[in-house]
Amino acid sequence: MLQQTQVATVIPYYQMWLRRFPDFSSLAVASEQEVLHAWQGLGYYTRARNLRAAAQTIMNKHGGRFPRSLSAIHDLPGVGRYTANAVATFAFNRTVPIVEANIARLLARLVDLQIPVDSSMGRDALWRCATELLPSRSAGLYNSALMDLGALVCSSRPKCVLCPVRDFCQTRDPARLPLKRMRPSTKRQTEYHGLAVRRGSVLLEQSQNRWRGMWMLPRLAAAGPKSRPLYVSEFAFTNHRITLTVFRRPAVEGSRKSKQRWFRIDRLQSVPLPSPHRRALEMLISAEPHRLYAPVTPT
Ligand code: SF4
Repeated sequence: MLQQTQVATVIPYYQMWLRRFPDFSSLAVASEQEVLHAWQGLGYYTRARNLRAAAQTIMNKHGGRFPRSLSAIHDLPGVGRYTANAVATFAFNRTVPIVEANIARLLARLVDLQIPVDSSMGRDALWRCATELLPSRSAGLYNSALMDLGALVCSSRPKCVLCPVRDFCQTRDPARLPLKRMRPSTKRQTEYHGLAVRRGSVLLEQSQNRWRGMWMLPRLAAAGPKSRPLYVSEFAFTNHRITLTVFRRPAVEGSRKSKQRWFRIDRLQSVPLPSPHRRALEMLISAEPHRLYAPVTPT
């Protein structure tokens, strides 16, 4: 939940998630739609799908108990090296290293790493360094301290005068580290969607790619030649800056292949919608209900 999101934003989501799915069995039997709905607003929806798949694996393969072995944790859907090691060290005090953003910054400065930390060579160097420094006992406590040191002292504005490891630190220029690869430039893209309303219901389409499984306003191949959009907004997605434009369209469903369905407007709260489309619908419904319910002439 914390990927690209601040702790303060995540706390209500986390509490709500635990109320809704208090154990592995409740998450394992939930539908994908329920899980996506609980996650909506956090982005990175693959994580929600993976959590559900991991709960199913725990129920089916491990008798409902979270596995203790590092390899079994690593085998759970969506669990990579960092997550497996973090769970093993914090939950079970296993002697394994972890490298996350705060620790990467700290270690890069400590050893004056002159290669980008987001390259495969840089990642390997950081994991090697974290492994070499790992104490043989109390690894959970040590890893926790390392994260705090990176977050609070060796932060983006390092407070070297307060640093308890400054005698070992090899960098002369901490503000320049860690090095990162050049980011791909942002690409701009415009996407067209249609708003069709019929007797208090709105037509939505199930996304097959970016927001797979969630519901959004149906896609249009292009804007109508003379039509003016009802709504325009921008949102970021990976290295894209996307302009979302919504046009009125006749209240007819598209092809069966596009998986379109009518949803009652007063029940949209229970439908998993990606944030840009939820914002668009909320604005259109609250600001201009008379336009939503006006008849649309087919073109
Ligand atoms: S001395 Fe400064 S740069 Fe080095 S680890 Fe401490 S805070 Fe980071």
